[in-house]
Amino acid sequence: MKIAIVGTGYVGLVTGTCLADLGNEVICIDKDRGKIALLNAGRIPIYEPGLPEMVIKNTCSRNLTFTDDLPTAIADAEVIFIAVGTPQGKSGGADLSGVWAVGRQIAENLKGPATIVIKSTVPVGTNAELSRQMAEITDVPFDVASNPEFLKEGAAIEDFYKPDRVVVGARRPEVVATLLRVYKPILGADRPFLAMLPESAEMTKYVANCLLATKISFINEMANLCTGYGAHIDDVRRGIGYDRRIGFQFLAPGAGYGGSCFPKDVRALIHMAKMVGLPCQMMEVVDSVNESQKDVLPRLILNHFGGSVRGLRIAVWGLAFKPETDDVRESPALVLIEELLQAGALVRVSDPQALEHVRAIYGDRLDYCEDPYSALEMADAVAIVTDWKQYQSPDFAVMSDLMNHRVIFDGRNCLDEAKVLSSGFQYQGIGRLTPG
Ligand code: NAD
Repeated sequence: MKIAIVGTGYVGLVTGTCLADLGNEVICIDKDRGKIALLNAGRIPIYEPGLPEMVIKNTCSRNLTFTDDLPTAIADAEVIFIAVGTPQGKSGGADLSGVWAVGRQIAENLKGPATIVIKSTVPVGTNAELSRQMAEITDVPFDVASNPEFLKEGAAIEDFYKPDRVVVGARRPEVVATLLRVYKPILGADRPFLAMLPESAEMTKYVANCLLATKISFINEMANLCTGYGAHIDDVRRGIGYDRRIGFQFLAPGAGYGGSCFPKDVRALIHMAKMVGLPCQMMEVVDSVNESQKDVLPRLILNHFGGSVRGLRIAVWGLAFKPETDDVRESPALVLIEELLQAGALVRVSDPQALEHVRAIYGDRLDYCEDPYSALEMADAVAIVTDWKQYQSPDFAVMSDLMNHRVIFDGRNCLDEAKVLSSGFQYQGIGRLTPG
């Protein structure tokens, strides 16, 4: 099939590349000329494991091309995906200006019948409104379908090929059939294709993300209670997780959720509820628990040092909002860094992929270290904020030699607590030990 993807970010680039790899003829479009030039030069603007090899393979076979020229690119596309960003707007709701702009541009340039597929996360009603706006511009027949994306950064390719499900919202069976053709090669008995109304598909995405965010805020609050009462969250997790109604997934305490999706999607749902005069109390609490959770790690550090870290050297391991990505949007590490800087600490940071994104924000206010161990030189403490694999079993002897004080703050509970303690370090995790 001839497929166009508008918006070549995390979602658009992964989707376009994987669809090309399935044998489709895919053209990825972006208004960011720098990004397109980079891609045309064979360079990948994001970090996503396995992606560079696939992009190169499919550009070489000419299944995958990149352009900033939308009118030409969509001219003979049968399916046009919209995968532009929908960041949080001033009101708290999703900013849809990108979706409207792309819809307008597609309508102005449509030459023949096409299925427009909204892959971006958008509030309920966007499908209907986009159809209405486009129909005002063009007489060419088109359909607008909704196909929310559930991929996880860091495992995006695996998620494309082995999705838990594919959700498609459409008003006509012919549109469902078109999208079934797109996804057929990756569907299976345990990978269902779920067709529904666009409104339900739009809602599904928010409900999924809001439930995941709720699980995180729930376990974080329980972890903090454990700290208050001298219980150990790891034991409590084991105690609940074996109950098959509960399970272990997304019930790991930490420094709070971040990223480009959960925070904005939770707030977008709250805004959607407001717009129809309905309460959304649970999500308001989930959001505020998460904001407070980002303060837990800075507070642990400050308390450990008697309320002041002025002049102390604090190392931060991990800047991305989660491992296997370079994405620092709403990362809890940024809150920690900000609070440490304001408290007068000298902050040395390290991350396998996200260093440059943080340098773009903080410039020379931080020390940037490619090697995590060099961040520890003369450090008074180290805080782990992203549970990258390479941080999970560090060389404690080397750490010990490098650091001024042997204390570790583990914002992801990713270290073996017993090993840390037996290596002569002081240790504080989230809900693991009662802080002294
Ligand atoms: P992104 O910011 O990485 O990429 C968006 C791209 O769209 C950018 O390259 C931008 O230049 C481009 N763009 C914006 N306006 C454009 C226009 N008018 N014409 C052409 N290109 C334009 O965003 P993302 O992380 O890929 O997210 C895209 C959507 O998918 C969002 O709605 C997000 O909520 C949703 N989503 C993201 C993820 C994720 O893990 N990143 C997962 C599921 C869903």
